[in-house]
Amino acid sequence: MDAPGAVARGDLLVRDGVIAAVGDGVPTALAALPGRRADVSVDASGAFVLPGFVHGHLHLCQTLFRGLAEQSDLLRWLREGIWPLEALLTETSVAAAARLGLLELIAGGVTCVNDMGTVRHTDAIGRVLEASGIRAVFGKALMDRGAGVPPALCEEPGAALESALELVRRWDGAADGRLRVSLAPRFILTCSHGLWRDVAAASAERGLLVHTHLAESPAEAREVAAAVSSTAARYFACAGVLSERFVGAHGVWVDDEELAMLAQARAALVHCPGSNLKLGSGLANVRHWVRAGLKRGIGSDGAACGNRLDTFHEMSLAAVLSRTLEPEDPLGAREALALATCEGARALGLGGVTGSLEPGKQADVIVVDHTALHQAPNETLGPYTTLVHATRASDVRLTMVAGRILYRDGEWTTLEAERVLAEARAEARGLARRAAAGPVQG
Ligand SMILES: [Zn+2]
Repeated sequence: MDAPGAVARGDLLVRDGVIAAVGDGVPTALAALPGRRADVSVDASGAFVLPGFVHGHLHLCQTLFRGLAEQSDLLRWLREGIWPLEALLTETSVAAAARLGLLELIAGGVTCVNDMGTVRHTDAIGRVLEASGIRAVFGKALMDRGAGVPPALCEEPGAALESALELVRRWDGAADGRLRVSLAPRFILTCSHGLWRDVAAASAERGLLVHTHLAESPAEAREVAAAVSSTAARYFACAGVLSERFVGAHGVWVDDEELAMLAQARAALVHCPGSNLKLGSGLANVRHWVRAGLKRGIGSDGAACGNRLDTFHEMSLAAVLSRTLEPEDPLGAREALALATCEGARALGLGGVTGSLEPGKQADVIVVDHTALHQAPNETLGPYTTLVHATRASDVRLTMVAGRILYRDGEWTTLEAERVLAEARAEARGLARRAAAGPVQG
């Protein structure tokens, strides 16, 4: 599948981690190789070969909290469920959470993630991302104020930004360019005006993505209005945060004028339909984003929101919800798949690197089986429909990042699944014990 979404039948040649040729170009490219053949061949018969999924908004640290904060709306979920748990995370538990999340993501065809991180121990996430082999943009969540923020998560703004920039110095461009670092102010209700200004300046000076949340729920919008006398996108425009480096998760409650402001700034929004539905936040109308010309992606948010890190589920929800919201012009399966591939890559500023199967791009490739009964009998007549609406994450046969196979037929090459699971269970028990003992002080 290339950037315009064309489907071809044939081979794909990878050389030195990069896509060397696709389809008709493969025989000529093979003939030019020493020995005139590839070192390793992968049989993808009975399968679709796709660009790997770009997961646009994630909290790997929350994987340990899956199922622990249920039946809640966004602000209560954060203040009573998630933040107290994040405050209890240790370096070891953050790493365990990240590994467990990556097991699921890699096996589900994700080759690139955009992670929000947490306030402390983000370095541990960097180490896990590096070892896992996945492509990633990640940051440290910045929080310097706000109702319900535990002391352990609330930092002095100068120190918070400095430690984010330390991450940048250590990790941005690391692992042969596979890892990038963003600035990740959490959202308006947890960041002071001075911090937003400093983030905007640091982003402009260093070319860093700004990854944040905006306009997720109506109650949040009311608190934002009370705090800054504005709406989120207007506030970001005034604070200088909107730019082509801005990646905002959710954007459920943005009006047409705000969409125009975001589009003018060449900012991106990331759709998280599963999280929005589970938290009762509302339904983002992605057709409006498309009409406004917005850069856009898709993600599942953390495992504590929608409980699964499954791109197939999110793509299907995006298309299904759009049919309800925009019955005359809904997103089709092809557009939903584009959110998770070429459009998602563009939203993260990685459109030239990944997101489609074209010569010169990184070999971030997945092989997805289409022989299962739940895909039959017309699986190849409408490949987009099959992929988005009938295929499951468990149909992914192989996941490759930069030419390196990370997952194949139920086996991970960089993560020891049994050990990761055991470690996650032990860390979740430890977390429960610490939570029962009461809140920590910063
Ligand atoms: Zn989020």
